[in-house]
Amino acid sequence: MTGAYGPIAIVWHRTDLRVRDHAAVAAAAQSARGRVAGVICVPEDVFGTVDLGRGLSIARASHRRVGHWLQAIDGLRHDWRTIGSALCVHRGAPEEVIPSLAAELGATEVHTAPCPAHDELAQNRLVARALKDQGARLVMHDETTMIAATDLPFEIEELPEVFSNYRRLVERSCRTREPIAEPSGLHVSDDVRASAEATATATLASQDLDQARAAALQTDPRAGWTVRGDRAAGLERLRQWIWRDDCLSRYKETRDGLLGADFSSRLSTWLALGTLSPREVAAEVRRYEHERVANDSTYWLWFELLWRDYFHLWVRRWRSRAFKASGMMGRTPCGAPDVQAFDRWRTGTTGEPFVDACMHELAATGWMSNRGRQNAASWLAKTAGVDWRWGAWWFESQLLDYDVGPNWGNWQYVAGVGNDPRNRTFNVRAQAERYDADGAYRRVWA
Ligand SMILES: Cc1cc2nc3c(=O)[nH]c(=O)nc-3n(C[C@H](O)[C@H](O)[C@H](O)COP(=O)(O)OP(=O)(O)OC[C@H]3O[C@@H](n4cnc5c(N)ncnc54)[C@H](O)[C@@H]3O)c2cc1C
Repeated sequence: MTGAYGPIAIVWHRTDLRVRDHAAVAAAAQSARGRVAGVICVPEDVFGTVDLGRGLSIARASHRRVGHWLQAIDGLRHDWRTIGSALCVHRGAPEEVIPSLAAELGATEVHTAPCPAHDELAQNRLVARALKDQGARLVMHDETTMIAATDLPFEIEELPEVFSNYRRLVERSCRTREPIAEPSGLHVSDDVRASAEATATATLASQDLDQARAAALQTDPRAGWTVRGDRAAGLERLRQWIWRDDCLSRYKETRDGLLGADFSSRLSTWLALGTLSPREVAAEVRRYEHERVANDSTYWLWFELLWRDYFHLWVRRWRSRAFKASGMMGRTPCGAPDVQAFDRWRTGTTGEPFVDACMHELAATGWMSNRGRQNAASWLAKTAGVDWRWGAWWFESQLLDYDVGPNWGNWQYVAGVGNDPRNRTFNVRAQAERYDADGAYRRVWA
């Protein structure tokens, strides 16, 4: 398979579905002198369930969420073709797929990003071991954050427990690097390209995946926008929100909105799958500040990206404690496994109109505003006293922008077992009066 072109390097993608600003792609291209191909594994149990106990199990990822991810993979296939190579798409466990592909292609290096959570770290170990047994190696690259972990003035183990302390350290001593250019003119043999294309097409043609694709195309007119998972759609959103409509210039005033598509950037779905990188977004913000205006709003978007960074580091720092009921602090968890209250919450039938509206929006679109998430989470964990992890699992299942650190970290924060030094409880009615004063959001969604 290696043919006249010699051995190739592989880039193993997970939540980094792009080829630009991608340290692993750039390093693999350099190391194998342009002979690089990508690979992504579609798990056999992509529609598997999570058992929450008490007879309750939920989908690990909704059909809509899986379909959205498939759209991102389609875009990635296109991008690999554009730079002269191909993306292999296989169905199966990485520890089987990756070593077998490496053997088939004669690859001695597989480059990847450090997926932050402990399941993925365990997966890395399995893949690394299997590769080592066949004389190949797994090379890790820092990918997921706007400020590279290697640029931080502390080790991950010393990550401050409170965000503002982290922010101060970063603002004092770090800068956001420029995005890395995508490699061009990659060259792999026609055999490799043809085989990758054929496998990818066959893998993606399965019937269960088609159902997910169909689910991702369903829209609800109340949402006010439609979203596609691929990078091209993310770039279009950046152009429209920042440049065409100048929404960035007033983001700090609008960001607590509930209705409409433009009160916040909605970049989270692309950032979560890595079709856009946080560094690319930060670079656009800097350019906007240079060419149009620099104000509190432009700073605030950068500040929110720093929150994202923080939770990515947080899940690496706290590992399995990110998912424990007692949280990072090892506090006594307040929640109970109350199946009925949880069911009322997830179906939007709590009788609390603001919470119900938020949960209906999530069910119909796979998205919810930050204000909505804070209130819905606080209601479940604090008002109804349900085990906060059930809520986190539900969000994981439903949110198109599900991202392990931001989701589990925010849930701990709101549930009072994480890094909120004030451990607040949201007064959901007062919040509704303040942020939905005319009741328009509740009328649309509840
Ligand atoms: C309980 C709960 C669960 C959440 N789960 C997720 C999740 O799974 N995935 C996710 O990306 N965000 C999550 N968030 C954070 C936040 O609600 C979303 O990032 C934001 O609403 C996405 O919309 P946007 O892109 O328009 O954000 P904008 O307001 O435009 O912010 C720009 C970007 O900054 C980042 N960001 C903003 N707020 C936060 C935050 N509080 N924490 C971390 N990053 C942030 C996101 O990447 C976002 O795209 C959660 C918040 C709560 C309270």
